[in-house]
Amino acid sequence: MHKVLFLFSHQLNLTYVHQSKIDPKRDLIVFVDSDDQWTYYRFHQQRIALHLSAYRHFQQEVKRAGYQTEWIRSQTLVTALKPFSNDGLIVFKPTNRYEEGWLQSLTNVTYLDDPLFLISLTSWAKLLPPGKSWKLDPIYRQFRKQLNILMEGDQPLGGQFSFDGDNRQGIDERPEIIPALTFDEDALTRDIIKDIQDRFSTHPGELTSLPYPVTRTQALEALHHFMSYRLVTFGRYQDAMHDQLPWMSHSMLSSSINLGLLSPREVIDEAVKAYHTKQIPLSAVEGFIRQILGWREYIRGVYRQSKTDYLSNNFFNHQHPLPSLFYDAKTDLHCLHVTVKETIQSGYNHHIQRLMVLSNAANLFGVVPEQLQRWFNEMYIDSMEWIVAPNVIGMGLYADGGAMSTKPYIASGAYIHKMSNYCDHCKFKVTLKQGEQACPFNILYWDFIARHKPQLKNNPRMGMMVRVWEKMSAADQQRIRKEAALMIQRHG
Ligand code: SF4
Repeated sequence: MHKVLFLFSHQLNLTYVHQSKIDPKRDLIVFVDSDDQWTYYRFHQQRIALHLSAYRHFQQEVKRAGYQTEWIRSQTLVTALKPFSNDGLIVFKPTNRYEEGWLQSLTNVTYLDDPLFLISLTSWAKLLPPGKSWKLDPIYRQFRKQLNILMEGDQPLGGQFSFDGDNRQGIDERPEIIPALTFDEDALTRDIIKDIQDRFSTHPGELTSLPYPVTRTQALEALHHFMSYRLVTFGRYQDAMHDQLPWMSHSMLSSSINLGLLSPREVIDEAVKAYHTKQIPLSAVEGFIRQILGWREYIRGVYRQSKTDYLSNNFFNHQHPLPSLFYDAKTDLHCLHVTVKETIQSGYNHHIQRLMVLSNAANLFGVVPEQLQRWFNEMYIDSMEWIVAPNVIGMGLYADGGAMSTKPYIASGAYIHKMSNYCDHCKFKVTLKQGEQACPFNILYWDFIARHKPQLKNNPRMGMMVRVWEKMSAADQQRIRKEAALMIQRHG
């Protein structure tokens, strides 16, 4: 009897094939293009094209490596896989709960642990016990020691584990950044683009090109290019935003890592190598590694250790629907216009745009958290529910009431002004705090504090802002509440 290995479109690495121990001559690898995988969220057309193109290219790669493969087109994943249940299916356990749910109706499945993650799911059960408060920092330190990354004996290189404070500088007039490596589409990708334009024409996002790596060879090229030319400026500009430089100095490797084209360990090893051979500042290298070894692994643990209703958390009881500007970029708030326009065009924003522009705005408008987390899943080429949910519900919106962050990441226009050039081209004035010309973030920030005084007053990092609000005159408070209501009506 032959065995059948099924790989998801985010398990595109020969490590999976080798670990499954299937026999190239006798056994079969199955690839499934099923509608439910691309419509569970109404994914951006570029995200679907990226997954399908990388999936197809990987099928070619394993064929070249001598394996037998089958490509199945189907409405649902389960329909495609059911006929193989008799033979015994091998599946690497997906992290996304909805994918796991699909597979539960199949019988005779052997589940294997995903080999590309640095920390196993069983370890997370011990690291993040239910009912305890969860913090990344001690876990990150533990991983650094355990995996001997940026260590000198038992001490961190440079004498400290985190150089976060060095990576928060604002924007320059003319940032000097070498552009990210992008790729032209081959014939296979062009055919897939046409197919997606037909099949998923009602999905959001533009799809005229696909500049991201779709093969391991391309992903490795992008990795080496980043290490050679862009890591050096990554730390300096990690939190900065510029309306002419959408990707700043970010690696653009997240989609390749999330598809499995690159393993997190090899990306970290290349960053350590770059530190030793290319004189890259330790703050840039450590900041980059912390995103992968620390944050990426940690949020996987948070997602799996959280209750199954995590997505419906709504600590502030926000009820405002997600504004249409999130899909069409039609807004006078330049920071929001630029950021959403980039999302529509490329399916990508970097983490400060996601956190301090989009999540900040959604929180200040009072948007239902589940609707923003849905949008993040839909719109980004690198989206995975296990990544998006903790980042949006936990970090971005504080909708879980602080299970993974110590305060809501809300900010007035001053923060956006410091970190970007957006305010220079906006019809609103970031320095004004009242009136029609005032930056909406300045008004909405105080309105948020007023609305959520009971939840914020005992928070050690927000209590002071509540006291500032309480010291304002009644007339000022009334004016702010009134102007905020008008702004939400006009822009939200
Ligand atoms: Fe955004 Fe306010 Fe700056 Fe305009 S002035 S870009 S709305 S922060």
